[in-house]
Amino acid sequence: MDLLRLRTAPRPAPAALLPAVADLVAVERPEAPLHCLRPATITTDTAAFVAGFPGDVMYAVKCNPEPAVLRAVWDGGVRHFDCASAQEVALVRSLFPEAAIHFMHPVKSRPAIRAAWEAGVRDYALDHADELAKIRAETVAGEDLGLFVRLALPRGRAVYDLTGKFGAPLEDAAALLRAARPHAARLGLCFHVGSQCLDPLAWREAMRLAGAVIARAGVAVDVIDVGGGFPAAYPGMETPLPLGAFFAEIEASLDALDLPYLPRLWAEPGRALVAGGASVVVQVLLRRGDALYVTDGVYGSLSDAGAPGFRFPARLLRPDGPPAAAASCDYMLFGPTCDSADRMAGPFPLPADVAEGDWIEIGQLGAYGGCLRTGFNGFDAIRTVEVRDPPMLPARD
Ligand SMILES: *Cc1c(COP(=O)(O)O)cnc(C)c1O
Repeated sequence: MDLLRLRTAPRPAPAALLPAVADLVAVERPEAPLHCLRPATITTDTAAFVAGFPGDVMYAVKCNPEPAVLRAVWDGGVRHFDCASAQEVALVRSLFPEAAIHFMHPVKSRPAIRAAWEAGVRDYALDHADELAKIRAETVAGEDLGLFVRLALPRGRAVYDLTGKFGAPLEDAAALLRAARPHAARLGLCFHVGSQCLDPLAWREAMRLAGAVIARAGVAVDVIDVGGGFPAAYPGMETPLPLGAFFAEIEASLDALDLPYLPRLWAEPGRALVAGGASVVVQVLLRRGDALYVTDGVYGSLSDAGAPGFRFPARLLRPDGPPAAAASCDYMLFGPTCDSADRMAGPFPLPADVAEGDWIEIGQLGAYGGCLRTGFNGFDAIRTVEVRDPPMLPARD
């Protein structure tokens, strides 16, 4: 990423001054995938999360680090950022000198810890005694250090499982809390239930485990960080539950721990803040029956539409052709690379007469879309624009 360019990037225009996707496609007739950012959607969804969550909200930067997205999240009221690398720390610091940055990756390089400390980062996650030693060695003792023990959770109910890589089991987590307490101005316990978690009970179970760890540790914990994983809307995954049901469950679970003091709650949402905030416009290169060969795929912005099997809303854009057929057809998509894994099963319901040269806008790609692009097979051309359009699926609450 070009930090110099990012630093001088202009603030986004008010939504009313931005172009509409259909008009852009009519004028530009894009041959490469066109990323369409919806800053107003991100700001609205972020503001709703911040207003509803009973604690501090940090944005998980990895989910979408576009400067326009970070600014939209900031405009929605977020002042805390969850970073996982020295590059993310530098990016957030360059955009927001006054932001609170938290280094929530449990395994960090020593140079990354030193760089983060220099950039004013004071909170660090860990899930092993050696990482605690590393953090203590690379930061300045006696200064406002926050230490966050990452707790391992059993395989849960999230669509995107995140267990198995990070987190200390109960006994180890309790020992780490005890070991960290004397060095921490802020001691926290954090966990992650997995991404796109549709069931609020996942947080209740995680909180119960957190309570057991705190009881075992016998030391006071200042913060419980309930992580990310809050769901966004995708076709076939519109849960009837608004985010408020998740927040209520978290608050009730904290009360149920019945601690003699009240830890602060933090959350690290990524997906829930930004999923509605981007789409990609692709062009149809070939139609073979119900399969459409298009200009972006799983090595581009559509990796979650591949093996993870997420579905995304789609619409046809045909600026100057005949009106689209009224009948609809369930399509699958193939991306532009030669790899047979570059396949998106969908289904993507679109008019029955989609043909070569048509454009298709695929929405709800604000989370883990553009940031996962690769240059595989030479398909790395992309243009990013800001648009005035509403999200392609309504927000969840
Ligand atoms: C990826 C990640 C998040 C964000 O998860 P979402 O599912 O996008 O909300 C939050 N915290 C940590 C530690 C992560 O790794």
